[in-house]
Amino acid sequence: MLTGRMMNFPLTLTHFLERARTLYARSEIVSRRPDRSLHRYTYADFYRRACRLAGALRRLGVKPGDRVASLCWNHHQHLELYFAVPAMGAVLHTLNLRLHPNDLGYIARHAEDRVLVVDRSLLPLFEKFAGAVPSIERVIVIPDDGPAPSGRLDYEQLLAPEPDTFDFPKVDEHAAAMLCYTSGTTGNPKGVLFSHRSTVLHTLVSCMADVLGVCGEDAVLPVVPMFHAAAWGLPYDAVATGAKVVMPGPHLDPASLLDLMAQERVTVAGGVPTIWLGILALLDQEPKRWDLSAMRTMAIGGSAAPAAMIDGFQKRHGLVVTHAWGMSELNPVGTLSRLKRHHADADDATKLSLRASQGFPLPFVDQRHVSDTGEVLPWDGSTMGELEVRGPWVASSYYGDEGNDRFTKDGWFKTGDVVTIDSEGYLRITDRSKDVIKSGGEWISSVALENALMAHPTVLEAAVFAGRHAKWDERPLAAVVFKPGQSATKEELSAHLEKHFAKYWVPDAYLFVQQIPRTSTGKFLKTKLREEYGDYLLKNPQE
Ligand code: AMP
Repeated sequence: MLTGRMMNFPLTLTHFLERARTLYARSEIVSRRPDRSLHRYTYADFYRRACRLAGALRRLGVKPGDRVASLCWNHHQHLELYFAVPAMGAVLHTLNLRLHPNDLGYIARHAEDRVLVVDRSLLPLFEKFAGAVPSIERVIVIPDDGPAPSGRLDYEQLLAPEPDTFDFPKVDEHAAAMLCYTSGTTGNPKGVLFSHRSTVLHTLVSCMADVLGVCGEDAVLPVVPMFHAAAWGLPYDAVATGAKVVMPGPHLDPASLLDLMAQERVTVAGGVPTIWLGILALLDQEPKRWDLSAMRTMAIGGSAAPAAMIDGFQKRHGLVVTHAWGMSELNPVGTLSRLKRHHADADDATKLSLRASQGFPLPFVDQRHVSDTGEVLPWDGSTMGELEVRGPWVASSYYGDEGNDRFTKDGWFKTGDVVTIDSEGYLRITDRSKDVIKSGGEWISSVALENALMAHPTVLEAAVFAGRHAKWDERPLAAVVFKPGQSATKEELSAHLEKHFAKYWVPDAYLFVQQIPRTSTGKFLKTKLREEYGDYLLKNPQE
């Protein structure tokens, strides 16, 4: 081999952070606080505060490789953590504030987090699992809705005495930058450890005109939480290009988001279908209330974006949806739906069907789908198989020993999604191989709920499955068989589950049945349950 004679220049997030100071000092970052007021500052301020944060964390003893956890909404301090922590060689571990305290305790303990940065408004949540995480030595409180309680480290006070500069170390591009946990649909949650390199490459490709096309003229609103799969990389895309960043804080209802989009002239926003369904409904009611003429595209993913929604935004409001598929294991976007040049002449129905598909892979992501026996299947648009992917921002193993059977011997990651792929590479997700339920973009484990229900003294057996829901896309339904001569009410069963799970996990309805259909090997036949009762909540909305 004749080796090329080019520099080996590391692909690190520090480079993006430095550009914020040298090239984009005047770009703006806007965050909505819990009291709805707006906080504004420039990239120059952001850079200085990131340096101060790195200085403060070093003073507290944070070393390269240490995990610094965040339990925060989307705001400018979270963005400071996104850059300062990896740039000093440590790892930002984003904790999902929607999880049950037991899960959060498990995850933070597994990650061996040393420092936790938490919004004051979320302190009560942290206090519920603090006792389960002895590794946390320091808790830093962001005074989002008032000052930090006495005896707690206050984020702002901690930054105040630090210098405006920090001598960021040379970080290896393969070093870990961020740790995100999956939501534990089968067994315990599993950690995915993004590297600087994987995040940088994902950012560069995301910013391609053919992907999200984020550029310096954009105003980017990550509605998708920064605690879930790095907010799909949107914060990194924005800072890398000097775009305006608009952070929604805790107000994620449709009217608040629309106000923010109109006021801040947002051009690119990203979120799960539930958020956009709410926005579409409100726009349909009051089509003239908000001026969204700046909006270039709305990225939708996390669950399938319904074709009717994509069409409704376009036809009734002139708004363009970009449908993308991704996973925590991918850092996170894998495919995105774009038309190709030759589709210009296709009819509207064909175009809509392509735009409602999950699209085709981004550059450097390879896809294939395989049968139960591992045979690679044809791209014919109809044969279903499990999707496997590989690429520089696909996990090569989990952080920890569990779940590593999802990585094949020949270098692919088994996604667990059942798909078809057509002759042009367009992917369509038809099902999930596991029977997880996704409500408003968040996973709910049916197995965990079933096990808990079956621990109730009156219950003989229970199967939990997804029911279609107008607002949340899916909600859990439980089919329950009582022990002979026994019974319980919906309220009693729900109260029993609320002891173990977050409220949004508790099924919306219970179907009291004589028996649960089973497969030939004795497993619950959930496809049958979904066929029979899948529309139950649509037909009985009072539940
Ligand atoms: P998470 O790791 O929590 O982001 O969840 C990833 C899973 O969400 C994928 O494996 C899919 O099952 C699902 N998902 C993500 N994006 C889409 C999409 N555009 N359409 C359908 N399902 C999706």
